[in-house]
Amino acid sequence: MFNTLSIPYCKITLNKRGADEYTKISFPLKYGIFSEIETSDAILQFNLNHEIVRAKSKDRQWLQPSEWLKRSMGNDWIYYSTGGYTGVFESIGEYYLPNLPYPTNSLIGGKPFDEPVVNQLLSSWHEIIGKSLDSVKNSRKSSHNSDLKRFSLDDRAKEHNLENYHNFIEFLESALKNTPQSLQKKTEALFNASGCRVTVMPPDARHVDYDIIPLIISDGCLYKCRFCRVKSDRPFAVRSFNQIKEQIEQLKEIYGHNIINYNSIFLGDHDGLNAGSSLDGGIDTIITAAEEAYKHFQFDKSYMKGANLFMFGSVGSLMNADHKLFELLNRLPYRSYINIGLESADQDTLDLIGKPLSALQVEEAFMEIQRINSLFDNVEITANFIMDENLPAGHYPAFLRLVRESIKRPKEKGAVYLSPLRINKPSREVLFEFNRLKTLSRLPTFLYIIQRL
Ligand code: SF4
Repeated sequence: MFNTLSIPYCKITLNKRGADEYTKISFPLKYGIFSEIETSDAILQFNLNHEIVRAKSKDRQWLQPSEWLKRSMGNDWIYYSTGGYTGVFESIGEYYLPNLPYPTNSLIGGKPFDEPVVNQLLSSWHEIIGKSLDSVKNSRKSSHNSDLKRFSLDDRAKEHNLENYHNFIEFLESALKNTPQSLQKKTEALFNASGCRVTVMPPDARHVDYDIIPLIISDGCLYKCRFCRVKSDRPFAVRSFNQIKEQIEQLKEIYGHNIINYNSIFLGDHDGLNAGSSLDGGIDTIITAAEEAYKHFQFDKSYMKGANLFMFGSVGSLMNADHKLFELLNRLPYRSYINIGLESADQDTLDLIGKPLSALQVEEAFMEIQRINSLFDNVEITANFIMDENLPAGHYPAFLRLVRESIKRPKEKGAVYLSPLRINKPSREVLFEFNRLKTLSRLPTFLYIIQRL
């Protein structure tokens, strides 16, 4: 069976095998198994449910040949750019910068969604599928007619030729059914299954290009900090095993054939770690959810190598967590990343942003993070701190006391993320400050761009 069909209008490749391991490389790798339509104007890529997932134009106006658009499971189109800024890798730890179509706190990047060539592609990709389908059908008709005329071609060869066309037509018909409207409906089904939209993904999800399956094990958070834009009104509550199992079944259906391209879960939402220290959930909620997800999503059969688990945690949930939880996480077939919102080790700053914690509690949590990171190979705890031009004078010195003075020598594990507070306000001063702090920090230090699913 042929995988590729080339006709004058387009070239179609079915089930192309992309990279099977998430890698940090300056070359634009595409992950997983996908199908592709290439015309003289554009390249479109589709997942195993035949839903469009990536696109790029071949127009000369396209900003950079190595840049592309990716559609998320939340049905957002994200423009991956080289950044037009040499420090992209140093700033975010990745070679390509996700430019988001909604307001966020990114300090770098341009405005690709203002470019006519980007909008032209976003409004025409579905039409390109339709034209490809018509072209393949016409090509089959003329090929069949010429087969009939060629008496020398045996019947089996003629049949084979028709059957081969059939696979491409089937793919195109299925891709055509995935209209922008039906993709939006599917996204809504995902949010319904989760009971919410994931309004922020952990920064560590960058390690898998944000390709995560969200499994919500608890709702809400402990602190409801004044500065936070992503908090929900819900009081913290752990979901029941039945709710989690039901969600897994629904997610399996939504991710469908394409689940084989996934190897990572996000145990949401804002303080998944607290499900492990809460009275009603206990350690079992986290461990059982992780194990059930691994089994039902069949991560052992994933095309992508390894498996990853992401979670958010808080100072309270980290300090209350039973040591046994980390031992159990460490033994799971996942590499687990837990991101803790510390925000500041300076009391004036904590008071200003309305985080109901003391600087001492933050310092203790930071030390606990170092301890856990040194004990468990498969568990990595990372931390967030805020950045802004107008924070109290003690904020950055307090940050440096932790990430420089308290750490004897540079470490590779336990990244710290600096999250600008301002939305849609890139600031040279804040970027300059970030570079200064990164240079002084003895832990891997990156910018945190808030990204939703
Ligand atoms: S920063 Fe974290 S703990 Fe504070 S309100 Fe936001 S989600 Fe809740």
